[in-house]
Amino acid sequence: MCQNPNEHPLNPSHFEGSSEEKQTAQEVEGGFAAYTQGMKFFDPHVHMTSRTTDDYQALADAGVVAIIEPAFWLGQPRTGLASFKDYFASLVGWERFRSSQFGIKHYCTIGLNSREANNEALAEEVMDILPLFLQKEGVVGVGEIGFDDQTAAEEKYYRAQLELAKEMNLPVQVHTPHRDKKKGTERSMAIALEHGLAPHMVVIDHNNEETVKSVLDQGFYAAFTIYPFTKMGNERMVEIVKQYGSERIMVNSAADWGISDPLAIPKTAALMKIKGISDSDIQKVTYQNALDSFAQSGQINEADFIHGLEIDQSLKFNGNTVLRGGQAPRVDKNSIFIR
Ligand SMILES: [Zn+2]
Repeated sequence: MCQNPNEHPLNPSHFEGSSEEKQTAQEVEGGFAAYTQGMKFFDPHVHMTSRTTDDYQALADAGVVAIIEPAFWLGQPRTGLASFKDYFASLVGWERFRSSQFGIKHYCTIGLNSREANNEALAEEVMDILPLFLQKEGVVGVGEIGFDDQTAAEEKYYRAQLELAKEMNLPVQVHTPHRDKKKGTERSMAIALEHGLAPHMVVIDHNNEETVKSVLDQGFYAAFTIYPFTKMGNERMVEIVKQYGSERIMVNSAADWGISDPLAIPKTAALMKIKGISDSDIQKVTYQNALDSFAQSGQINEADFIHGLEIDQSLKFNGNTVLRGGQAPRVDKNSIFIR
């Protein structure tokens, strides 16, 4: 998390370092679209429930055609099962509708996040309702699950949810801890293998230079979150693709209620282009690998979004709309680009 945004007036989030890097940062920040013309993006990890309609519009304008919203915590612990139920229902309901109003195909993963696994009484109740939601249309995996503090309770519910994923033949989206990352990542993979999950069904998320080699060597998908200001910036991401190629690697924004950047993928694609990464490698890490890994759920049909969704803002969801009084609905049938 950023402590003081004023120290980075150019935002970026994504860059620290030489003046040349800062200049590139400025160029990507303001003009990334000049480098990403015609590209389409798939963000496999973004918490849109926490974002605004402006973000949806910006994503659509930048070429993001599909997204996956993993279930996670709200920034504070839930106090009862009903909150989980309503949240899961909103991911397959209202939020998906909201996304469709901007021409973006919305999928989600459903799971008990690691932090709230530590409330065991509530965790037991959540486990009971997971199978119901995992069967819903557009649910492309179990996630995001894994370790936060690496407690015994976290391990217990991580294991239980791996079993559930195996039973239902769904991909798993694994959140790796920010503290003790190397150890937590290795442990997450070892436990998944112990439960007999095929590595190609498991996406290990929030990787860095320290974890990527082992994740790829063991056959898992390796996802990278482009965090603003520190951690995994997109300069570093370019170096990783230069070193490891594009096989089973994907980038995501993990944008949520904290300081984050929903446009992290198109901006990273622009930087990769500037740095000489091939178009086919860019396409793999910003679109294809996310699609391939989560399409193993049987829930994703690329034809649904590759040419854009029909936008009809006159539609309603349970009587509710994204429009406010007096606004004219936009109806762009057969339109790829939204303006
Ligand atoms: Zn997340």
